[in-house]
Amino acid sequence: MEDCIFCQIIAGKIPAAVVYEDDKVFAFEDIKPAAPVHILLIPRRHIATFNDLKPHDVELMGHMALVLKKLAADHGLAEKGYRILINCGSEGGQQVYHLHYHLLGGRPLGRLLP
Ligand code: 5GP
Ligand code: ZN
Repeated sequence: MEDCIFCQIIAGKIPAAVVYEDDKVFAFEDIKPAAPVHILLIPRRHIATFNDLKPHDVELMGHMALVLKKLAADHGLAEKGYRILINCGSEGGQQVYHLHYHLLGGRPLGRLLP
């Protein structure tokens, strides 16, 4: 996936402030943070969108959930709270087509829903 920005970050071709990595996932600070803590967590394997998840990705997604919990705790967000979100597709607001979780926290985030 040579034209994918996030694959290039994983490959070290584009610099990023990496906060966590293992054999399955990679996490780094968002370049335009929307909150004091704004981390992106991505699978190492290129998956374009949430729509592209397959049954064999269930272990990966469970792993990502636990890594998000750890990242939130490591960044001091566990007690006060935080938000995790995925944008999917154009109307979902997705700009980078490599599946990613946003982890946001460090300020009151307000409600997204009425
Ligand atoms: P999306 O809108 O696709 O859910 O979110 C993409 C996110 O990636 C945005 O919050 C944007 O700021 C971030 N982003 C885009 N390009 C780069 C980059 O080159 N480096 C980093 N660290 N973040 C990026
Ligand atoms: Zn990619």
